[in-house]
Amino acid sequence: MNKITSTATLTFTTIRTFIAGIGFDAIHENEAVLWVADFFQKNQNSPRIQKKFFLVTPNPEMVIAAQKNPVFKKVLNAADFAAADGVGILWASYFLNLRKRNFLTLLASLAAIVFAPQKIRKVIPERITGTDLFPKLLEFAATRKKKVFLLGAKEGIAEKVKKRFEQKFPDLEISGMFSGSPKISEEEGIREQIDSSQAELLFVAFGAPAQEMWIARNLSKFKTVKFAAGIGGAFDFHAGAISRAPKIFRQFGLEWLWRLISQPSRFPRIWNATFRFVKLVWRERYK
Ligand code: UDP
Repeated sequence: MNKITSTATLTFTTIRTFIAGIGFDAIHENEAVLWVADFFQKNQNSPRIQKKFFLVTPNPEMVIAAQKNPVFKKVLNAADFAAADGVGILWASYFLNLRKRNFLTLLASLAAIVFAPQKIRKVIPERITGTDLFPKLLEFAATRKKKVFLLGAKEGIAEKVKKRFEQKFPDLEISGMFSGSPKISEEEGIREQIDSSQAELLFVAFGAPAQEMWIARNLSKFKTVKFAAGIGGAFDFHAGAISRAPKIFRQFGLEWLWRLISQPSRFPRIWNATFRFVKLVWRERYK
């Protein structure tokens, strides 16, 4: 189930684990930033190398969506780095690698999410959410004086994010923002805006799968952008537009429960991310 992969121009190597056909890189969050730094380091002196870095953060809901959307599946698997966004992904990687995968071990592994959280971190060691990774990558951009573009979210949200992080990291330059739309007809105009901002890092918040599909269609066409990531609701969280689950919920892998309490309209999405995902993984146990 596990296979070693390495990206052609990089020395960085990770274990890629597959869950229902979607690959995940088994690394820690601090290594994730080092990986991006390593990519920039290798490419900074070779302007002719058109290598780009595409980061995705698939969660259980995206794994389900990809089952019925082969293009989305292909896009996720073509990314340079796929971070495991969700405790459900850690759980699935643990359960699917157990020698005995029966109903009893399924229940025990699910109970381990809350009662023995270290156990489910044996294959993929850490959950890496776009929301947590985003400020760390902004800090990296600030220290290396690389410009950043924020695409997506509702009007005014990216401005709040810019204000907050340019205060926090005085060397940070968010050189462009646009709430935009993931419509194909608007792509060319958006690309022109991004090119003229001279950004090297691009963060896209159109929600999945629109943001990943958008990046896959456009990344190779940018003049200065070398790195792009789809980060879902991260702008909303950091702008304070929606509140993050309290630490205790996050620690026990219950962020989904908090979202259910605070945003009951998300029930169908949370149902997909929990019960339907467990069902999918159960069906995958002998594949
Ligand atoms: N979004 C957008 N344009 C769209 C659809 C969504 O800018 O056409 C934004 C939305 O405002 C939000 C972000 O995409 O800021 C992510 O939305 P969602 O809550 O669905 O993402 P999740 O965090 O659940 O992946």
